[in-house]
Amino acid sequence: MNRPYNFSAGPAAIPEEVLKTAAAEMLDWHGSGMGVMEMSHRGKEFISIYEKAEADFRALLSVPPQFKILFMQGGGLAENAIVPLNLSRAATVDVVVTGSWSQKSQKEARKYASTVNVIASNEADGHRSIPDPASWKLSRGASYVHVCTNETIHGVEFQQLPDLAALGSDAPLVIDFSSHVASRPVDWSRVGVAFAGAQKNLGPAGVTVVVVREDLLGHALPICPSAFDYKIVAEHDSMYNTPPTWGIYVAGLTFDWLLRQTEGDLSGVAAIEARNIAKARTLYDYIDGSQLYVNPIDPAARSRMNVPFLLRDESRNDAFLAGAKARGLLQLKGHKSVGGMRASIYNAMPIEGIHALVDYLREFEKSHA
Ligand SMILES: *Cc1c(COP(=O)(O)O)cnc(C)c1O
Repeated sequence: MNRPYNFSAGPAAIPEEVLKTAAAEMLDWHGSGMGVMEMSHRGKEFISIYEKAEADFRALLSVPPQFKILFMQGGGLAENAIVPLNLSRAATVDVVVTGSWSQKSQKEARKYASTVNVIASNEADGHRSIPDPASWKLSRGASYVHVCTNETIHGVEFQQLPDLAALGSDAPLVIDFSSHVASRPVDWSRVGVAFAGAQKNLGPAGVTVVVVREDLLGHALPICPSAFDYKIVAEHDSMYNTPPTWGIYVAGLTFDWLLRQTEGDLSGVAAIEARNIAKARTLYDYIDGSQLYVNPIDPAARSRMNVPFLLRDESRNDAFLAGAKARGLLQLKGHKSVGGMRASIYNAMPIEGIHALVDYLREFEKSHA
């Protein structure tokens, strides 16, 4: 029997093959007599899991050698504090506000930076577009510029990273790519730090992947907890404190799965990206052509990962969700701050899931016409 299609925004669907491997290895990982959760993080078994996960993530996203890959705890929200603790130098920080997540980031940074400047915002249009980087009011001498490259709740995504150097700034760019990591390539020449909680696109909650350029290590504020100091974490290969071993293991299985994906001549992230483009296009095209559903986001800023949509007749919301659940289409309810529906269609969602959703959208619209 097929499992239902799970449209949760996070924690979210994990590739079925990954879940099956984790289940098969639960009691005995590779003949070691131990499950991964029971292993010392310093033993050779776990070290081999860790080294493969790190190497596979580096290969998957073509992370250049001058970047360290850290596996930390605390999720995206903890990084909102950990980033200014490491990079702000207690000076000025620039933030671009494009939705709920970057809004939280700018608030948290105020605890550690002397000044936080919101250098651009899409608040006036209800977080439905991406402000043109040419219009950003970059601060002179900012310690860094923070952007959330995919706003999970509002469904807006940067289709390319801003080129701060071309805008006359030498500040490092910090990206919160929690909800679209590994869904598309990253132009690392434009990035200083990238962080992502795993539970949207990489695996279970509990591990945060942080990619940090080496020259940005070693500038933490004196009050920065040692376990959150990027330099200390990097020097200890993410084992200054006990790392989230289970999360690293399942994320590692997911990296391995991602690397093996193919689409025509493409493989790895290029294949996944092509698939994500096709998935998103299929869903947006249907919504745009319908009489009942609407997606209000500027088409140039629409997320490939999170597709919020409203029913023009909101009195039908409960019936819509009940019918979806009965069909094996789970967790489509929108975030409470936006309302309506949201289909999160991360890497683990196959195109068949999109077709099943569109079939249901069509049928529901017809039966309620
Ligand atoms: C989910 C999410 C977060 C928060 O992650 P936590 O693990 O709950 O701290 C941060 N940023 C973005 C873009 C997210 O989607």
